Amino acid sequence: MAALKRLYSSRGTDVDTNAVRERLLKRRDELRQRASEATADLRHETDPLSADFAEQVTQREHDDVLGAISSSAQAELQQVEGALRRLASGRYTTCAVCGEDIEPERLSAVPYTDRCRTCAEGGRRAAGRDARG
Ligand SMILES: [Zn+2]
Repeated sequence: MAALKRLYSSRGTDVDTNAVRERLLKRRDELRQRASEATADLRHETDPLSADFAEQVTQREHDDVLGAISSSAQAELQQVEGALRRLASGRYTTCAVCGEDIEPERLSAVPYTDRCRTCAEGGRRAAGRDARG
């Protein structure tokens, strides 16, 4: 445990990874629940499509909203899961683009980010590499 703490402080990054992991796991549960609720509603498991045409139109509009909720929840879910993987592999505080440390205040604002502020804003490009994602 002391070695881990030294590793982080020697890199000038002070991030409480246990607290971050807790936060991400909680967020992942929320997102999973939101996505699965929206998906269940979309399948009309509890609310079958109406026989009435006008009501069907309303239901389909509602489905569009549910679809958007579901896909945005799933997109965020992927980011959260990516952050949990980086936490597990010790790359959580390392920018995926330039390899520099990600600012701790940025990580606390956007806990699932994988790039430093400069790369996120597109101000710096890794030489000879395409910035993907
Ligand atoms: Zn960077």
